[in-house]
Amino acid sequence: MSAQMIHNPVLLDTDRKMPKSIAIIGAGTIGPDIGYYLKSALADLTLVLIDINPEALTRAVDRIHAYVEKGLKRGKLTEQQAAAVRKNLVTSTDYSALKDCDWVLEAATEDLALKRKIFTEIEAHVRPDALITSNTSSLPAERLFSHLAHPERATVTHFFAPAFQNPVVEVIDWSGANPALGGYLRWFFAMTGKVPMITTDAVCFMLDRIFDNWCNEAALLLDIASPAEIDSVAMELVHAGPFFVLNLANGNPIIVETNTVQAADEGDHYTPATIFNEVDKWETNPPGSPVDVAPDVAATIRDRLLGILFSQTVDILDREIGSAADLDLGCCLAFAFKKGPLELMRDYGEAEVMRILNEFAAYKPGMPQPKKAIANYLDFHRYILVDDVAGAKVITLRRPEAMNALHDQMTDEILSVITAHENDPEVKGFVITGYGIQAFCAGADIGKFPAMLGNKDQSVDYAKSCSRLLVHLDRCPKPVVAALNGLALGGGLELATRCHALVARDTAWMQLPEVTLGIVPGIGAMVIPYRRWPEGAAVFNGMLTRAEKLTAEKARDLGMIAELVTAPEDLIPAALRQLDALQGKPYKITDGPVDIAGFSATDGKAVTGQTLSGKIIAIIEKAVADAAQATSLTAALEVGYQAFGDSACTAAAKEGISAFSERRKPDFEKTG
Ligand code: NAD
Repeated sequence: MSAQMIHNPVLLDTDRKMPKSIAIIGAGTIGPDIGYYLKSALADLTLVLIDINPEALTRAVDRIHAYVEKGLKRGKLTEQQAAAVRKNLVTSTDYSALKDCDWVLEAATEDLALKRKIFTEIEAHVRPDALITSNTSSLPAERLFSHLAHPERATVTHFFAPAFQNPVVEVIDWSGANPALGGYLRWFFAMTGKVPMITTDAVCFMLDRIFDNWCNEAALLLDIASPAEIDSVAMELVHAGPFFVLNLANGNPIIVETNTVQAADEGDHYTPATIFNEVDKWETNPPGSPVDVAPDVAATIRDRLLGILFSQTVDILDREIGSAADLDLGCCLAFAFKKGPLELMRDYGEAEVMRILNEFAAYKPGMPQPKKAIANYLDFHRYILVDDVAGAKVITLRRPEAMNALHDQMTDEILSVITAHENDPEVKGFVITGYGIQAFCAGADIGKFPAMLGNKDQSVDYAKSCSRLLVHLDRCPKPVVAALNGLALGGGLELATRCHALVARDTAWMQLPEVTLGIVPGIGAMVIPYRRWPEGAAVFNGMLTRAEKLTAEKARDLGMIAELVTAPEDLIPAALRQLDALQGKPYKITDGPVDIAGFSATDGKAVTGQTLSGKIIAIIEKAVADAAQATSLTAALEVGYQAFGDSACTAAAKEGISAFSERRKPDFEKTG
């Protein structure tokens, strides 16, 4: 199968290993930030920074050291990690320092002629097997690399500011590259905590078509409003307005470059606003401090910003520059949009989207218009990736910003894939895994729950509704295997334990943190583990009433995990082996009752020492005992839903959920 057809990058086969030495050409605004990400992700990496300007190199090293200090101060780095970042950091003004590098990443000034010259020079110094990539914001790979003797090892890897934090990297798929190159780079980025997105070799690729034109439109609006006013209206849609972000990223010259390239290729309607050449820093307000804007002016700003957003979105999808799911996720992750453009289109509805687009086209002829009905652009999975691997559907939960936490839409997307294929003779079963290497699933969003506190019936119905996927898995005619690539918390663990078998990486771990929030895990955790692995009852008791962690290794010893693997690439093959082993064996959780160990007296504290609610612990202990006595799975699950409803009516739940929303520690001493 071609690398392009695999959506979850961890599934990609790659012969190439992790790089030991990477060089960055250009130590200006973004080069050192990319360097800090690489050094933080790869402890033993040698990083070579090259610039024609020695002062830029000094500033770059100072900046990296300052990031290390900040990381140490905030407890995000250990002394050992800090030392690893500071070590093997080499600077040079001489390209001969590239000779041992596995990969050269160019992040020099955005200028085609300059970059082509740089690539010629790089090629003269590097080993034949070294990779070459460019961080250009706009220039197609074809134009950057086609003059090289070996363009097949070169492509664009486009980061977003600030590159050590911003997870998105566009990886450009162009005709001159070795087909394995894009696959390797996507695998590399996923393994080092990034969210790679594949795009075609169009000018400005995918996401800068959105961002640069959004900024350009903002600048064109300066005729009717100030930067602070435009940012304030934009903040209805994004967490930080365009001018504020341009200041942060020193973005003005880049918009001039990128929009000039886009105008030359695609028409004058992309011409950059002249004011970008006249202003260095914009006078605007930071996020959270909007200014008042007259309603008619605000309406024009809103319509034009949405107009450019929707116009670019339909164009990207009509020309298949990138995927709808990446576009929505990319806008949220890379540019802090509150919702992706397609989600916004869904919210506004077809009629309003068309009004905005028609008015925008009348104001700016030439801007792309939809080539089909809006509904056709909205039909895609936003929160999961689905891959066909060896006759199985591998479903990857992808909400990297929330450690793949479940919510209603994600639940419905998983269900839709399962119901569409559970009777398909071509499909042997399903694997559910999480995106990246850190989290399988961090639980479930608290969603509508806070509004239901104090209302037992509503809370019980909510638990039942949240269970719709899990109950479906109980009777799914094909096997479903959970592949735990990382942590599984709360609702994420309830999902995993509802799958017919589990496999895990040895670094994965599990926890039920609900008791620390003053609630109980009501969609299976007080029922299912006890029925499936009754000998683990004492461990589950500790998880429920003290929020104790369970390592994958211990879970394997309890019989929960069928196979444990070390390397990330071994996880899905292990899941597929379990799918094979389960073929033709109907799955059923025991109806019970089950004989399980009771609770030993607790000190009312979580494993962290946090004082817990005695009332919630009592609800858990009673529910676990009652559910174990139930003579059918359905009756046992009902005990869990009712216990969730009971917990929602306690003062502890009110305190716990408020504290969570207010990011403070709950006080269960006062609630009991
Ligand atoms: P910058 O102007 O801040 O820095 C460019 C650096 O390249 C300078 O230090 C300059 O001295 C150096 N340089 C110029 N010619 C060189 C040469 N021949 N050899 C070695 N070094 C050379 O630019 P930047 O904002 O860091 O952007 C760099 C690249 O990254 C551009 O292609 C830009 O479009 C892209 N990019 C930038 C951002 C951002 O947020 N700044 C985001 C995404 C992509």
